[in-house]
Amino acid sequence: MEDLIRASLDHCIKCTICETVCPVAQVTPLFPGPKYEGPQAERFRLPSGSADASVDYCSGCGLCTQVCPQGVKIAEINSRARAHFKAQKGVSVRDRILARPGLTGRLGTPVAPLANRVMANGTARRLMEKAVGVHHAAPVPVYAGHSFQRWARHHERHASPRLDGRSVVYFHGCSVNWFEPDLGRMVVAVLEHNGVEVKMPRQDCCGLPLQSNGLFDAARRALGRLARDLSAGSAGHAVVASSTSCGVMLKREGREILGLDDDETLRAVGARTFDVCEYLLDLHGQGLLDTGFRPLPLTVIYHAACQQRGHSMGTPALELLRLVPELEVIRSEADCCGMAGTYGLKKEKYDIGMAVGERLFEQVRRVGPDAVACDGETCRWQITKATGRASVHPVELLFRAYGLEL
Ligand code: SF4
Ligand code: SF4
Repeated sequence: MEDLIRASLDHCIKCTICETVCPVAQVTPLFPGPKYEGPQAERFRLPSGSADASVDYCSGCGLCTQVCPQGVKIAEINSRARAHFKAQKGVSVRDRILARPGLTGRLGTPVAPLANRVMANGTARRLMEKAVGVHHAAPVPVYAGHSFQRWARHHERHASPRLDGRSVVYFHGCSVNWFEPDLGRMVVAVLEHNGVEVKMPRQDCCGLPLQSNGLFDAARRALGRLARDLSAGSAGHAVVASSTSCGVMLKREGREILGLDDDETLRAVGARTFDVCEYLLDLHGQGLLDTGFRPLPLTVIYHAACQQRGHSMGTPALELLRLVPELEVIRSEADCCGMAGTYGLKKEKYDIGMAVGERLFEQVRRVGPDAVACDGETCRWQITKATGRASVHPVELLFRAYGLEL
């Protein structure tokens, strides 16, 4: 099969539009920009890979690919070049750890109080920065101490929601499973409130952090396994994701970047995967969404995470939030918060990530909203750490506006 990602570089007309949106190139001379690092450099790379270290400064935000008028898959070219670079230079212990949130979630959950205390301790974080290279000030998630899956098993046995014939499979991802199980419960509650049966098969990581840290073989195994797990529990139902980055990985990104086009199960599951807000807005379009929201007299900034844009679905969260009476929703003026998955956690990239996010942080400081709504988990952690403001998934606001309780 033709490699469409590599073939796309021949369509570059050097218009430099991608250069104008790259948030990383705008704040550091260490990254030469998408046009140079993408199509221009790729022409001269060996098939086995001969990228230089600058490619590792691409955050993988994907904004360049989204704006390229010629359809050049710039971010995807960079992702592959980074994997070749890391294969030659070696992947650090830190990157191997950050690439496995499922494993760290599993190990940290039984000792959650201790793990959370250590991660909140400044001295421990500075030691950790020295030892493994995770920046001491970077936002790290808080272990919930129990998994979403444990709640899901209990819910399936004991709950009897009012349903009206539609079913979805919930792809909750690692973050909900280990760090934000209450968000998963809110997603389930909002779907069930609208008469949708929610199936929650056992599942693990989509492989996105493995892919973005250059561990392609492990990422392929993870994504293939996830597709089979969701497929076995789905019987052709829609798959609904509450993490936009993991959702887009399952929809198309993993298949494209990892070269898994021949995986029929992955293709089929990806074709029926929806972001949760995309799914709810679709229900609304069919007249099936309960719009009897209570007033929420709050001001929120809605920030569309960069990987949310990779869905090419517009901003369904924004449209849904605008249905809630008295909820003032202000759109973020920034393209990226600077976190980009695990990028902003890394010692050598932390300052770049903070500089990238400054436009958003400044807006939050200026507006002083009650909260920031954002679909991406690591973005939420970054926004709260940088601004001190609460950040929530948009579904949490819908949950509150329905008057639901956990
Ligand atoms: S936007 Fe696309 S066509 Fe224009 S320079 Fe960048 S890669 Fe080339
Ligand atoms: S993916 Fe983001 S950081 Fe990387 S080149 Fe494109 S716009 Fe720049």
